[in-house]
Amino acid sequence: MTDTLSPDLLRRFDVPGPRYTSYPTADRFVEAFGAPDYAQAPAQRREGAGIASPLSLYVHIPFCESLCYYCACNKIVTKQHGKAAGYLRYLEREVALHVEALGVGAPVSQLHLGGGTPTFLSDAELRELMAMLRRSFAIAPGAECSIEIDPRTIDAGRLQVLADLGFNRLSFGVQDFDPAVQKAVHRIQPAAQVFDPVAHARGIGFDSINIDLIYGLPRQTPESFARTLQQVAQLRPDRIALYAYAHLPERFKPQRRILQADLPAPPDKLGMLSQALASFLGAGYVYIGMDHFALPEDSLPWPSARGRLHRNFRGYSTQADCDLIGTGVSAIGRIGATYSQNAKTMEEYCDRLDRGRLPVVRGLALSRDDWRGAR
Ligand code: SF4
Repeated sequence: MTDTLSPDLLRRFDVPGPRYTSYPTADRFVEAFGAPDYAQAPAQRREGAGIASPLSLYVHIPFCESLCYYCACNKIVTKQHGKAAGYLRYLEREVALHVEALGVGAPVSQLHLGGGTPTFLSDAELRELMAMLRRSFAIAPGAECSIEIDPRTIDAGRLQVLADLGFNRLSFGVQDFDPAVQKAVHRIQPAAQVFDPVAHARGIGFDSINIDLIYGLPRQTPESFARTLQQVAQLRPDRIALYAYAHLPERFKPQRRILQADLPAPPDKLGMLSQALASFLGAGYVYIGMDHFALPEDSLPWPSARGRLHRNFRGYSTQADCDLIGTGVSAIGRIGATYSQNAKTMEEYCDRLDRGRLPVVRGLALSRDDWRGAR
């Protein structure tokens, strides 16, 4: 692939902008679309052939203990863990409304907990959340159950709890191993904080370990990034997601703490992308598409080869293009050709649920032709 990405081509497309990782992109959603519009989609699913097809379920946990300066996610930075208990009550109400529309025990073949920081929840809260989801949906034996991990929030005991709860895939937010870069982005996590839990997770049988990396961060240099890539090679995760940092401080407030002068110059940033590609492909990873790489023995590459790989708002999936139920603040869902997004602020999210309504505030129903194109 490095042969096909000439420096000229890379330079031409090296412009900051929103990530175009899905069709339709979320910025096409309209406010005129709300809960009543969304309600037609689960009703149609119930009436049609879709009822037996499994769902993909996403749960957004928005809390984080500290702010990473590059962050563009929907999150609430707080050290008050008590806030999570109240949020779980609202999640339960939202799930109950989905169940009312979909029917009790709808089959689920994929579950993903994302954030924010899902591991902000205590062990007891994670147990409570999973019990509530299992009461509401039929999570299939062997379902892909994945969770995003902030390495600063876990230990061996916590990993065992996740395994006991049925999680089989972990996604570690690494971004960069270099201490100077970690300091510049306000996310200090020594390498051992990643290596130790990854080794432990493998030892207790997790099926797949993903790590997220970002290139283009402040204080990153081709030399420092080469060291990070060497550490990634030692870690040998099953999957790697490599994202480009887009510096958009007008849009994302945390990024205002990043000095423009600390960002790598465009040629260096492009060099880091090339370095990463050469490193991953040289280590035997298969390029999946966009920002994802996987080892050949991982379940991702083979559907890619057969043209059966799907990409939704949560990333790539090996499973058929399931309807996606998104729950929690700002979560995105899709049933058939209907896309929906929940309220982005906690206040609005809770207010809608207090009034007994799904917190859908934006969305889009694609026309038959656009839907065919999207598929
Ligand atoms: S990058 Fe992740 S952990 Fe850091 S502030 Fe954003 S959501 Fe929270």
